[in-house]
Amino acid sequence: QEHPRPKKIKALDPDVVNKIAAGEIIVAPMHALKELIENAVDAGSTSIEVLIKEGGLKLLQITDNGHGIDRDDLPILCERFTTSKLKEFEDLTSIGTYGFRGEALASISHIAHLTVTTKTAGSSCAWRAHYGDGKLIPAKPGQSSAPKATAGRGGTQITVEDLFYNVPTRRRAFRSASEEYAKILDVVGRYAVHCSGVAFSCRKHGDSGVSISTPASASIVERIRQIHGSAVANELVEFKAEDTKYGFRASGYATNANYHVKKTVILLFINHRSVESTVVKRAVEQTYSSFLPKGGHPFVYLDLEIEPNRVDVNVHPTKREVNFLNEDEIIELICTEIRSKLAEVDSSRTFLTQS
Ligand code: ADP
Ligand code: MG
Repeated sequence: QEHPRPKKIKALDPDVVNKIAAGEIIVAPMHALKELIENAVDAGSTSIEVLIKEGGLKLLQITDNGHGIDRDDLPILCERFTTSKLKEFEDLTSIGTYGFRGEALASISHIAHLTVTTKTAGSSCAWRAHYGDGKLIPAKPGQSSAPKATAGRGGTQITVEDLFYNVPTRRRAFRSASEEYAKILDVVGRYAVHCSGVAFSCRKHGDSGVSISTPASASIVERIRQIHGSAVANELVEFKAEDTKYGFRASGYATNANYHVKKTVILLFINHRSVESTVVKRAVEQTYSSFLPKGGHPFVYLDLEIEPNRVDVNVHPTKREVNFLNEDEIIELICTEIRSKLAEVDSSRTFLTQS
């Protein structure tokens, strides 16, 4: 029997590789936005404004008042693995900032039209640059691709247009702009609750009002009230837990037994990064099962800080999943704390109704 001859093995074109990598990091507009918010927070911003058109597929614009980007850094800004936040692999274990791989802007530039306008405190003017496939490109064909001087305030404005314009299968997968906008509001809302000292706003293009608007001075409870309503904000208990042996410190707010919804809402931040965790969710639901009626679920905001050398953030390029040491013990300590706070409220309520 005759075997077919093996096909020649060839290296993929770098542009194809970059586009594949970009599609893995940026699955939907909300993922691009999350990276851009984290960059703005990393830059020390106290004001972050988001503007959205067609669920972020047509336009995603984020304006911050952070430290800006040096003009000299603009040519390599969108190359893969360029970052101001990480120099050695060892730094991965001690990194305090959100971003660390220098992949976000590069990825976005491979699957969208990207424009950056930025001004540092030391510069007398702002600079505007356009990017495609990781490199500076001219604003219009035939023009120079060098950054252009322009008027502008201190900080950075990132404009992402026509996301997935060159990935038609992905582009077609989005059926509803309002569904994508809801996911964007969820992301902005999470960071708006967590980042005290930072003003957030989110607006849909064409709408006169804003969907989210939180002043810099708002407390965490005020932020929760703004975004999740008074029904939640009026029924919160504060909790704190820490343990030097496990190298963690946790704090947050959880609804008491007077409040419940159909689905658990958890705003979980680990080292100031919004992450998901089914382990945490299950433990929280278990904790509430004896306090809430069947089918009732809580709202919990949990700010968890863990010694960086105990956290493995490098599991996946999306950084959506985080592993840490002594996960079970840490979660148990936090849930015990929540349980005792709930019991306090519960017994005072029983006491009130009895007297
Ligand atoms: P990373 O955040 O992992 O470093 P990014 O691709 O997200 O990678 O960003 C690359 C670099 O661009 C950052 O390290 C930072 O120096 C700069 N940068 C990006 N966004 C901003 C911003 N909003 N303000 C100031 N600098 C920024
Ligand atoms: Mg980043």
